[in-house]
Amino acid sequence: MASNRRVLLNSRPQGEPTDANFAIDEAPIPEPKDGEYLSRTIWLSLDPYMRGRMAEAKGYAANVNLGDPMVGGTVGQVVKSKNPKFKEGDYVVEYSGWQSYAVSNGAGVMKLDPAVAPLSTALSVLGMPGMTAWWGLMEIGKPKAGETVVVSAASGAVGSVVGQLAKLRGCRAVGIAGGKDKCDYVVNELGFDACVDYRAAGANLYKELRAAAPKGIDVYFENVGGAVQAAVVPQLNDFARVPLCGLISQYNEMQMNPGPDWRLLLIKRATVTGFIVSDHFDKMEGFWKEVPAAVKAGKIKYREDIVKGIENAPQAFMGLLKGKNFGKLLVQVSEDPTRSR
Ligand code: NDP
Repeated sequence: MASNRRVLLNSRPQGEPTDANFAIDEAPIPEPKDGEYLSRTIWLSLDPYMRGRMAEAKGYAANVNLGDPMVGGTVGQVVKSKNPKFKEGDYVVEYSGWQSYAVSNGAGVMKLDPAVAPLSTALSVLGMPGMTAWWGLMEIGKPKAGETVVVSAASGAVGSVVGQLAKLRGCRAVGIAGGKDKCDYVVNELGFDACVDYRAAGANLYKELRAAAPKGIDVYFENVGGAVQAAVVPQLNDFARVPLCGLISQYNEMQMNPGPDWRLLLIKRATVTGFIVSDHFDKMEGFWKEVPAAVKAGKIKYREDIVKGIENAPQAFMGLLKGKNFGKLLVQVSEDPTRSR
């Protein structure tokens, strides 16, 4: 009889997470009670915000308690149900965390039709990261044709969609990414106008960005912070908009680095707006209208970086915080019957 393999938070990281912060555990498969169903996890999404959930300090959502499974978005298949709304065989997108089976009462769960899009896209381009890109760019960035949109972590789950949406709006899209392969992909596959490799550029980052965005930057979609942010902010145009989405370069820091130069933001009359996508999940009509059709038509492309086996999630997650992933990082926890067909 199979067991429920889980990845638990074993200790809180001091700086970069290590193997010791995670524990792999085999528990009995849970039994659904009346009103619940049991699902087998197929896909687990690994996302940068999970670093915050491992920490002691309070973030915008509750932390994971020591000894509990790590949290995370998942796609699963119902294997047993005592809830009339879910039947055996249904595919669901849920939030069941780093474990191979989970019970749920169905709250906040959405059913998926595999004929519409591959199941895994519910965790990437058609899920939380895609919505993040859409909300931040459209509602905060408000790009206009002819403007220059710069996005950091440009080859990743969020950044790749930001740049492609900017192109669809008639903007110049400039990515910033780590490494030649990622930059080649951003320009040649995703169709950005340019991409700056911040790792290779080093101290020349400001100059290389200037060459890639010669008319200055109207929208900076901020995903990373740190040295990249320091090179971008002085190049913002007057009345620039900065959707402040993430600061991944700082998630492992024990002390926050100083933020952007506020004097520069004042002089440029820039708008910097932080946002958390989950505050807006109920306002995504524009996303649903535009993005699934654009993906189907090949106007928005996506890439998945798939790691097999839930026991490999900790290593993969540690790699994400160092830029080792290339595209949306997913763990394949069990077989996806719709893929092997
Ligand atoms: P990605 O798929 O882009 O993966 C993370 C990428 O971040 C890495 O591949 C790496 O790309 C880059 N990175 C890692 N470490 C550093 C570093 N030290 N300096 C610069 N870049 C680094 O992840 P997502 O697309 O899922 O997330 C992108 C950002 O969006 C994150 O900051 C995340 O927290 C944020 N986010 C915010 C949400 C919100 O609601 N506000 C929701 C979802 C995501 P490279 O090799 O190119 O450096």
